[in-house]
Amino acid sequence: MAHAPSSAPAADATDLAPPITKHGVCNLCEAICGLTFQVQGEGPRARIVSIKGDDADPLSRGHICPKAVALKDLHEDPDRLRQPVRRVVENGVTRWEPIGWEQAFDLVVEGLVKVREQHGSNAVAVYQGNPNVHNWGNITHGHLFFSQLKTRARFSATSADQLPHHVVAYWLYGHQLALPIPDIDRTMCMLVLGGNPLASNGSLMTVPDVRARFKALKARGGKLIVVDPRRTETAAIADEHLAIDPGSDAAWLLSLVHTLFAEELTAPGALEPLLDQVKAVRDAVAPFSPEATAALTGIDAATTRRIVRELAAASTQGGGVVYGRMGVSTQAHGVVCQWAIQVINLLTGNVDREGGALLTSPALNLIQMKLMGPGHFDAWRSRVRGAPEFSGELPVSVMAEEMLTPGKGQIRALVTSAGNPVLSTPNGRQLDEALSKLDFMVSIDFYVNETTRHANLILPPTCFVEHDHYDLVFLHLAVRNVARYSEPVVERAPGALHDWEIYAELAQRYARRAWSLERGGARARLSGLLARALMKRLSPQRLLAIGLKRSGAAQRGVTMAKLRAHPEGIDLGPLKPSLGKALQARGKRIDLMPAAIRRELPLLVAPFTAGTPDSASSEGSRPALKLIGRREVRSNNSWMHNSERLVSGKARCTLWIHPDDAQRHALQDGHTVTLASRTGRIQVPVHITSDIRPGVVSLPHGWGHDRDGVRLRVASAHAGASINDLTDDRQTERISANAAFSAVPVWIEAA
Ligand code: SF4
Repeated sequence: MAHAPSSAPAADATDLAPPITKHGVCNLCEAICGLTFQVQGEGPRARIVSIKGDDADPLSRGHICPKAVALKDLHEDPDRLRQPVRRVVENGVTRWEPIGWEQAFDLVVEGLVKVREQHGSNAVAVYQGNPNVHNWGNITHGHLFFSQLKTRARFSATSADQLPHHVVAYWLYGHQLALPIPDIDRTMCMLVLGGNPLASNGSLMTVPDVRARFKALKARGGKLIVVDPRRTETAAIADEHLAIDPGSDAAWLLSLVHTLFAEELTAPGALEPLLDQVKAVRDAVAPFSPEATAALTGIDAATTRRIVRELAAASTQGGGVVYGRMGVSTQAHGVVCQWAIQVINLLTGNVDREGGALLTSPALNLIQMKLMGPGHFDAWRSRVRGAPEFSGELPVSVMAEEMLTPGKGQIRALVTSAGNPVLSTPNGRQLDEALSKLDFMVSIDFYVNETTRHANLILPPTCFVEHDHYDLVFLHLAVRNVARYSEPVVERAPGALHDWEIYAELAQRYARRAWSLERGGARARLSGLLARALMKRLSPQRLLAIGLKRSGAAQRGVTMAKLRAHPEGIDLGPLKPSLGKALQARGKRIDLMPAAIRRELPLLVAPFTAGTPDSASSEGSRPALKLIGRREVRSNNSWMHNSERLVSGKARCTLWIHPDDAQRHALQDGHTVTLASRTGRIQVPVHITSDIRPGVVSLPHGWGHDRDGVRLRVASAHAGASINDLTDDRQTERISANAAFSAVPVWIEAA
């Protein structure tokens, strides 16, 4: 599938040069598709003239989605910042003044050190957005700078998304990144909850070309079952769709575990010697029979029991797997959901087996090489609410209150990196207000967006096609083991800096300036300075070369030379069992009943079996509708809406509502309604469809570009409304305080 650029650029000398083909990658989303680019001209004036999927790529096999072509739009976007800017307010008017890198670095370090000197290190906070894991320079060098700040006020998009996955992986398998990946190419039964791979191309399951893979599953006699309050694109091609009531997935999953025991369908097989506390699990799930939870979930007991039998049968015929993603993580019981999913996969013998869920074996394995720590949970808590940290980060649900609540440790300065939490975290309006009151803020970003408009300084890194790439994270999550290094597609402009160069420079300057604030002796501080000076000389590519040598990847045919010779990627084969080697839990055993789960399950018996969802609410006599999110293939969180080709056509920021609910509110398709929640109200057009469960409404996320000061011309003209003006920072996952975006009570106030 190929996409031609939407508009012909003005003719100049580069038009005379014949285009050359370059291999590259789209690292906008987790699918990390391999691409081929036709590039005309050379140097910084080179122009991308076409983008296609790379048929030779062993993982993506030529797949591409409409967002890939927007890489060209991003590269050419006149709104993209290309040099540092400083916010200047004169006579009440804000303008952004371009400044040089030297001055920008000095101002950033001065601003941060000043807040730290006056208020302590925890007064400086960090927020890292989702693109941080998609750009390897952030991973290799970001920590140099962020660790230098010595702050506990660290936040990221993780706690507005997949935090429960990491918590459960840490508890069960001993490492936060030990996430068994569905073996989609060989399984015989895949049960998907709260995920829409056809729109996402997989998430915590890197699976480009997922439609073809589901088609192949069905062709070999397998079954795809989707559980979701909405008939998603994935549900539409599934063999069976169960429209569960939002927020009740944990109850249903506990019923699946219950049924496995009740019908003697547990068969862990080779896993059995590794599993501890099986009886404790059986006892804990005893109250959650399918009959007891049916009223809450909306799924009848006979269907639940049949699905358990089908999963168990598939386990004897090539493997079955349960996979749950964002919809089940971002709800009140997200950790219980992810725990139950792992327990089902383990008790049916479907972890670490072909056709089930397996750990990957990337050429550069962050777990095996101990380049990423196993994690820790609840080592400290947030100042205001007492929410637990995970692996050194506090949940974003508490970020605004930590800024707005006076007292020792109040956040007064913020560093954001490739993030837009005003649109992507709960109760965005409150955060908007909190950011406007900070003493100092700096953003490493290339847009003036809803969040960065509050910054004093913005430092823009190069964009995706201007730097090289090796995927350090998503190759750990891919459904096939591959290795691929991509050179830059076009040369960066003179004076432009890559993200890793920005971090290395900031780290070194900050360390020098904050010398007197550091703890430890002069020798320790000096060695820190030297380490930073050394890292500044080591690009991500050089670190990769060192890492590959040390990891023994050459034995698998992966060296820098071979990666360069095969820009389409090196195939390392299908996933293989490796749990015995990879398991890092204590005693190399799997404790099926972590303490927090043991405490939590008894508390769920009454609400889960009485048929009253604990998120249900009402305003006066009006029962609440339950708000859920929606992902779309032409959108990528909050930041791809400045590409005309991705936002053109019918408005997509619409409120999906069932015909019964529309009739109750006397609505017609296209009506604009005011939708309200505890935290705010928005206006949005409705789309009436029976593809959503009655009592549930759905909005996509990442919209709401109509705030003052945003410099995104295309996005502002297609502003939409932000779902996170309605989501609630007080509605969180019960164990980890992950944001609970699903089943937010909302009311239609007026049409
Ligand atoms: S699915 Fe689309 S956005 Fe994601 S990596 Fe592939 S081409 Fe890029």
